[in-house]
Amino acid sequence: MSEPILQVANLHVDFQTYGGVVQAVRGVSFDVCAGQTLAIVGESGCGKSVTVQSLMGLIPMPPGRIHQGSAHLRGHDILASKIIDGQDIRGSQISMIFQDPMTSLNPTMNIGSQIAETLEVHKGYSKSDAFARAIELLDMSKIPEAAKRAKQYPFEFSGGMLQRAMIAMAIACEPAILVADEPTTALDVTIQAQILDLLGDLQQETGMAIILITHDLGVVARMADEVMVMYAGEVVERGGVDDIFYRSGHPYTQGLRLAMPTNNQDTEANQTLVAIDGSPPDLFNPPRGCAYHPRCPYAMQVCAEQAPPTRTLGADHQAQCWLHHEMAGALPDGLVSASKVGQ
Ligand code: SF4
Repeated sequence: MSEPILQVANLHVDFQTYGGVVQAVRGVSFDVCAGQTLAIVGESGCGKSVTVQSLMGLIPMPPGRIHQGSAHLRGHDILASKIIDGQDIRGSQISMIFQDPMTSLNPTMNIGSQIAETLEVHKGYSKSDAFARAIELLDMSKIPEAAKRAKQYPFEFSGGMLQRAMIAMAIACEPAILVADEPTTALDVTIQAQILDLLGDLQQETGMAIILITHDLGVVARMADEVMVMYAGEVVERGGVDDIFYRSGHPYTQGLRLAMPTNNQDTEANQTLVAIDGSPPDLFNPPRGCAYHPRCPYAMQVCAEQAPPTRTLGADHQAQCWLHHEMAGALPDGLVSASKVGQ
């Protein structure tokens, strides 16, 4: 594995509101290497988008606040000022595609000019050179008749074509990291597959890293190398994609897997989708101990009292759960045995 491009350690982000302090991200750490796809998964409100947006200066501060942690992009401390505006890194170092391209593009500008503007601002291209490059980027993003399409407006594009245009814009400045925040949620499954293939092809061509933010484990299975499972602002399990799907060690990861539609006859749930009971916790006042304990079918007394330590379950595979403690007895079905290291 190459040197990490992005190294994030113990990141804490909160929001000061009239109702109190929302502890949105609580001690998140991760690395991203060139050519790697890191998927961040979890239910809505688990902190996956806030984690990445805070690093890009996309969180309004105040009310947002990064009150602890560090983040280094190619060795450069991007949180040095604590209130980052992200101008230096957005587009040129890290760029982002959003889930709804319909609302992310300017309806009054043609597509080519919107892509060209990025190149003029970040790369100093002239207007005509930037527009010519925009056509090349649309072509790379597999938009047919790119020269003609570049002169059209967003309303003349389908949803899938708009997402391709967003991808063309995102890769315009050859970023080291592309953040894809639910990139296929608004698309039908056929177009979804095409967009994921396109992202994979572009990653092969450019060597960029991808941070994929999603609640869709089908997308994760198709794209990810590494997976980070978040719950209530914390990372509860991380590992390679096979670890998460075939050797998961955290009950929440197991719950997400069982809630995933599949056409495999041999699934443990025998094709019945099993919802996770309850709702994510209130982050004004996260539960003591393991934040998942009010919903966890295996919760023990200790879970409500003390936060579980991180356990190593295999090479590059860790989970935070008391079930892996040496005193916890046999693991429930469906959870993979850990190395059961002592405390
Ligand atoms: Fe469930 Fe306890 Fe493990 Fe939390 S620590 S996931 S409550 S068993």
